Amino acid sequence: MPMSTLPTLFVSHGSPMLALDEGQPAHGFLRKLGNTLPRPEAILVISAHWETAAPRVTGAVHLDTIHDFYGFPEPLYELRYPAPGDHALAKEVARLLGPPTSVDPVRGLDHGAWVPLLLMYPQHDIPVLQLSLQTPLGPVHHLKIGEALKPLRERGVLILASGGATHNLREYFHASDDHKPYEDFADWLHAALTRGDRDALLDYRQRAPQAARCHPTEEHFLPLFAALGAGGPKAQRLHHSFDRTLCMDAYIFQD
Ligand code: ZN
Repeated sequence: MPMSTLPTLFVSHGSPMLALDEGQPAHGFLRKLGNTLPRPEAILVISAHWETAAPRVTGAVHLDTIHDFYGFPEPLYELRYPAPGDHALAKEVARLLGPPTSVDPVRGLDHGAWVPLLLMYPQHDIPVLQLSLQTPLGPVHHLKIGEALKPLRERGVLILASGGATHNLREYFHASDDHKPYEDFADWLHAALTRGDRDALLDYRQRAPQAARCHPTEEHFLPLFAALGAGGPKAQRLHHSFDRTLCMDAYIFQD
C-alpha cells in the first residue's frame, strides 16, 4: 500500500482544561480531527511548552506525560498519554536539522503535545516525538526548521504544531469579554494563511493588528511557522472558536 504524504497541522491547545472540557468547541473538533487524516506512521509535535537554546528532539522509547501546569483540578493530573517514542526517527530528525540539534533520551511530552494528542489519537498507539522551540530566534528560524522537516511528510510523519492563534493569559484571567482585538488578529491571520502570504506572516509583529497584545511573548505563535515551512505556504482553516481571549483556531497545510 503506498504511503500517504501527510499534511501538517497547526492547532491551538488553549488551557490544559481543554483535555476534559467537552463543552469547548475545540475539544469536539480535536476529537474528530484524527479520523479525517490518513493514519500517520509517527507524529512529530512542536509545542509552545518546550524551549531550548538549540533544537532538541525526544528519543525516549517510552514517553512520560509531563503535567507542566499548576492549580488545576486533580483529574487533569491523572491523565496520561503513554505513547511509544521512535529513537531511530529522532536521530533522522537531528540529521535533517543538522548541528547543533541533539536527541534528548529522557524528556517526555508536555501538555501542549499530549492534550491535543489525547483528543486526536486516544489509543496512543502511534510513535510520538517532540521537537523544542528556540523562541529568541523568531519566525524565520522556525520556518527553516519546518522546511528541513518537509521530507518526513512523504514518510508518513504527521508534523503537528501546537500553540495558540492568540495567547494572552493575563487578559484571559482579568479582562472583559471584549474579543474584538483578538478577533481582528485572528481574521488577519486567516486572510494571510488563506492567500499563502509568507512575507506578511513572517512580519506579523509589524503588520498584524494587535500582534503584541495577542502574543505578548512569541512561543505560542512560533510553532505555526514550522507547520508553514513543512506544508505551506497556503493553509485552510479547519476550526474557529474562542476560549475567552484564547483563539482556538486550527489550520491544515498541504501544498
Ligand atoms: Zn500553552
